[in-house]
Amino acid sequence: MWTATSSTARGTACSPSPTTRPDPRATPVAPATPPPGRPGRGAGGPGSTTPRETPTLAAEPAHGGRLRPVLEGAPVVRDLSIRPVRRRTLLAAVTGTAAAAAAVAVPGPARAAQPVEPDIDGTAQWNARPPDGTISVLRHRPSMIIVHHTVSDNAQDFSRDRAHAHAHWVQDLHMDDNGWVDTGYHFLVSRGGWITEGRHRSLETLLGGTGFVLGSHTSGQNNRGIGIATEGAYHDGATPPDAQWEVLVALCAFVCAQYGIPSAEIYGHKDFGSTLCPGVLHDMLPRLRDEVAGALA
Ligand SMILES: [Zn+2]
Repeated sequence: MWTATSSTARGTACSPSPTTRPDPRATPVAPATPPPGRPGRGAGGPGSTTPRETPTLAAEPAHGGRLRPVLEGAPVVRDLSIRPVRRRTLLAAVTGTAAAAAAVAVPGPARAAQPVEPDIDGTAQWNARPPDGTISVLRHRPSMIIVHHTVSDNAQDFSRDRAHAHAHWVQDLHMDDNGWVDTGYHFLVSRGGWITEGRHRSLETLLGGTGFVLGSHTSGQNNRGIGIATEGAYHDGATPPDAQWEVLVALCAFVCAQYGIPSAEIYGHKDFGSTLCPGVLHDMLPRLRDEVAGALA
């Protein structure tokens, strides 16, 4: 069985760890460096994208034409009034449909506030491969969040297409190289602030609020932790883009609210194994906990 110590002493990769029930074929190998975009996946794999130079706001018709900040440094990134909201939540607010109840009325411990549900592109939206086996759903709530970085290159392409390409890259790596049933993480946050669902059914179970998918991201903790991976390599000197940070906070707050997880129960991969993952983001965990607490207050 692969262990978290095998390839991380030099901090060259997040170390996705086997599930508590490892896939039989698993011989995980975390790459020292991220491979280029995979053949057959078309343009856009990490390493094959074209940097943008001019910060822009991208209109997203698929999300009702709302504007969404996509680049670091765009002044609106910190404008909470335009923080992404799922379309069905917006529709439900108008129509009072059952979707509204599904999106808002979630069973769980009493909480002071319900953070806005962030926009998450499900596996169907980024055209994920089907799982190579059964996805296990645990019928209890997770008790913590574990943050990772994917050690992809720190691309300057902050587009939604890039986020989807990154999701494919991670899924291919975990299925083809590690031999896992699917992506190991539950969710991924791109450098442009786009959230993609990782392992199938992670979003569905998050919205349900009573169970979660057995992931494969932190050895020994997969039956209790939600794994959130940030796109990029955050070794010493690297800085996560503002958009990514803001959305990471929003996603963590929503996960905490859905499952009744205290903001203090947000950790980094290195808290549970010999790895440097998630790099400088681990140093930022106190701030992350504080900002999530603020969102929950
Ligand atoms: Zn990790």
